[in-house]
Amino acid sequence: MAKRKIVYYPEPVLTVKAPEVETIDGEIAELMDDMAETMYASHGIGLAAPQIAVSKRVITVDVNPDSEEITLMQLANPRILEGHGRVLYEEGCLSFPGLTVEVARQAEIHVEAVNRDGETFRFEADGLLAICVQHEIDHLDGITFVDHLNPLRRRVALRRFKHHLAAMLAQNSAA
Ligand code: ZN
Repeated sequence: MAKRKIVYYPEPVLTVKAPEVETIDGEIAELMDDMAETMYASHGIGLAAPQIAVSKRVITVDVNPDSEEITLMQLANPRILEGHGRVLYEEGCLSFPGLTVEVARQAEIHVEAVNRDGETFRFEADGLLAICVQHEIDHLDGITFVDHLNPLRRRVALRRFKHHLAAMLAQNSAA
């Protein structure tokens, strides 16, 4: 496993629709494992392949990284079959370091995906898991969390992020 570099908005790979994975071969399994390592190392609870500059429909999610049971999900071609309800949550994103925005999402979702063993399966999610899966699937469609804001709030959030990123990069290059 290897940690990969996370790309930041507005990297073009974050704004295009990623193609489906055809089979779970060694390369995809390695991608999934690298994504898990990258996600944990970055203290994220979800990561989509476009965030490490790989345009493929693969996500990793673990909303209980400190739990003793294994709660890691490594999914290819995830899609939402149906959703219900509405929930507001202050989200962050590894491609927008320093920015959080409140986003409205569906509260409960039914999802179909392919696991690391190549098996298609279905699961239901609510709470933080539902929010996180929707956030990551959005990345596969070239949608980021600021795209859920109205035009004014989106502009304010992007301006805040631009300032934060510039300060962060200046600090990193000085260190
Ligand atoms: Zn994100």
